[in-house]
Amino acid sequence: MDYFDYKNGKLFCEDVPVERIADEVGTPAYIYSAATLRHHYRRIAEAFSKLDTMVCFSVKSLSNVHILKLLAEEDSGFDIVSGGELHRVAQAGGDMAKVVYAGVGKTDTELRAAIAADIAYFNVESEAEFENLARLAAEAGKTVRVALRVNPDVDPKTHHYTTTGKKENKFGVDIERAERFFETYGHDANARLDAIHFHLGSPIYSPKPYVEAIGKTMRLIDRLRTRGFEINALDIGGGFAADYKTGDALPAVDYAAEIVPLLDGRKLQLILEPGRQISANSGILLTRVVYVKDGFDRKFIIADAAMTDLVRPAMYGAEHFVWPTNSNEVPKRSPDYAPDGTVLVDVVGGVCESADFLAKDRMLPEVSRGDLMAVFTTGAYGFAQSSQFNSRPRGPEVLVEGDKFRIIRRRETYDDLLGPEMDV
Ligand SMILES: *Cc1c(COP(=O)(O)O)cnc(C)c1O
Repeated sequence: MDYFDYKNGKLFCEDVPVERIADEVGTPAYIYSAATLRHHYRRIAEAFSKLDTMVCFSVKSLSNVHILKLLAEEDSGFDIVSGGELHRVAQAGGDMAKVVYAGVGKTDTELRAAIAADIAYFNVESEAEFENLARLAAEAGKTVRVALRVNPDVDPKTHHYTTTGKKENKFGVDIERAERFFETYGHDANARLDAIHFHLGSPIYSPKPYVEAIGKTMRLIDRLRTRGFEINALDIGGGFAADYKTGDALPAVDYAAEIVPLLDGRKLQLILEPGRQISANSGILLTRVVYVKDGFDRKFIIADAAMTDLVRPAMYGAEHFVWPTNSNEVPKRSPDYAPDGTVLVDVVGGVCESADFLAKDRMLPEVSRGDLMAVFTTGAYGFAQSSQFNSRPRGPEVLVEGDKFRIIRRRETYDDLLGPEMDV
């Protein structure tokens, strides 16, 4: 569900024809729909409202400060993984009492900043990190709250690069090691260990892996409570899927239907860290056709966007739906969609890598030089994972609200590319 629709043969974002945005800001450009962001945030918050729930938007999926501000105004908390993200949340006016901080490699500088900011939870991933955090908190004369990230060894059935809760992954500590962890560190004066965290990976298209992981962690929490440890929160991470391929993604209520009963009456705050389920469908990447080239068995549509603007196809084999923004029929948003009159194409960028494609083996209507195309479901991990590889300045980010739009990050210039090299 989103607010990108074809009306009278033209793609609109809310009430703005995307062509108008391209004319004004150029291409490639990232377009976000404010209504879609709000819709998805509210849908998750409402689905879990029966419990004491804190929804912490995963900043790494879409980090623009204006987007964070919009979500802060919705009362969202934030899941951060770096000092840079802490800085962004602060600039957005986010409530630090609703910030949770994960990551295996938090540095002293990052920890000190988060201690000073009085964030809600440090999601600690190792003994060494706990000891360092406790030391820095004591130095600052503060008491921080800690959730132990456990590794429930559950297979989320997703790409192995984005699987994070299996035994062999670098994240968290084994459930068996968790009890020893509490024995050793559960009575620290400056780092109060009173919560459990896990993050299984993403995208996860079924509630089942969460149910399995919650089962394992609830048994751990019961054992810890029996031994006198106070456990106040369970953070089940992110990973709720987005609708990359129509029909594959579940709405938040379907996850909630299986998760809420497991936690109802257990005297635990539930913390969620959704990223893509809020941001993915809220964005598209607009790109123009630079050239069309005949290949051996297909056409290559060479776009002015590339893997530098959207790396998910190259990195994870992700399939994003691509379609011209002028289209007399309303396309079905599926990579398998192949109506009459379409031809076999690869949509590629201009970067010197064979992995540089936005879509492979697709059936698309004939397009020509200058035509505008939309790559859908790019709100999450689109701009956020972009780079300047090949010295390509990044395109702008644009936020649409109703019939208005505004640039929330300007297009980079050649001077932006060279800036940090010139003032040395
Ligand atoms: C990446 C990440 C998330 C968000 O994942 P999504 O798939 O975008 O929901 C949440 N929590 C942690 C710890 C993460 O690393």
